[in-house]
Amino acid sequence: MLSFEEKLSFLPTITEVIRQEQLSAKKSLGQNFLTDLNLTKRIVATCPLKEGDVVLEIGPGPGGLTRALLLSKASKVIVIEKDPRFFPALHALQEIVGDRLTLIKGDALSLSLADIHQGPLAIVANLPYNIGTELILQWFDDLGSITSITVMLQKEVVDRLVALPSTKDYGRLSIMAQWLTEVRRAFHVSPKAFTPPPKVTSSVVTLVPRQTPLYPADKKILEKTTALTFQHRRKMLRSSLRGIHPHLDMALESIGINPEARPETLSIESFCKLSGLLAPFLSIK
Ligand code: SAM
Repeated sequence: MLSFEEKLSFLPTITEVIRQEQLSAKKSLGQNFLTDLNLTKRIVATCPLKEGDVVLEIGPGPGGLTRALLLSKASKVIVIEKDPRFFPALHALQEIVGDRLTLIKGDALSLSLADIHQGPLAIVANLPYNIGTELILQWFDDLGSITSITVMLQKEVVDRLVALPSTKDYGRLSIMAQWLTEVRRAFHVSPKAFTPPPKVTSSVVTLVPRQTPLYPADKKILEKTTALTFQHRRKMLRSSLRGIHPHLDMALESIGINPEARPETLSIESFCKLSGLLAPFLSIK
């Protein structure tokens, strides 16, 4: 019997699929395709996959990354695609792997992970860049269902995910991502690797949910605290938090924060302490 890799060699290459089906890329759906199986295998190798894991791929498109995922240890690959032009190519893959590949035809933004699969998921995707950050923030609300997230994004978003205090990219996304997950940039990918090439460089990043967040804090209050302080990135905390706490200067000093500090200089630990301090004075919907 032929292995999946041998059967795959009988299918048209991704470049041929794109040409045969005349799949012009739609900008509105963030379509930039990966055609090189060596690169998609490299992305999959970055993902901390274990034997038997169920993988969720957002936006398989013509199936370049999906092929590499089907060559991995994953027991099952579930893909969600919004654009029906790709369904024939994905059905052709299904014909050779059977129920190891599940195709969900729909919008990833409108589906919860529980709608997709009952059990832990490893997420792997070359994300549509226009909804990448939104999807990541949605997953932060559902980390109990996720074993890891390995995604390709614009380099500038990954710069923000991994940024440290006192750097220009440090902000709300860095704090929430690093508080909830272990974030690691894997490698950069040049625009030349995509069809068509995007205008920006991309990076592959892995986020592994922490057992418990890095420091004690309430997620909604921490989000609100970072939103309030980073709304005016260059303002001192004393000024952006004016009127929220009755004895602000004294309270900030009591947790070791200089009221004249700017939010970008505060560590994640300090943000967690600050959120605890403000909690009684913030209304959270
Ligand atoms: N995975 C393919 C690859 O690496 O070549 C395609 C990646 S392309 C950057 C993004 C894919 O996401 C496209 O196939 C696009 O149609 C799909 N997509 C865009 N928005 C989506 C959404 N809301 N839900 C599901 N898929 C979406």
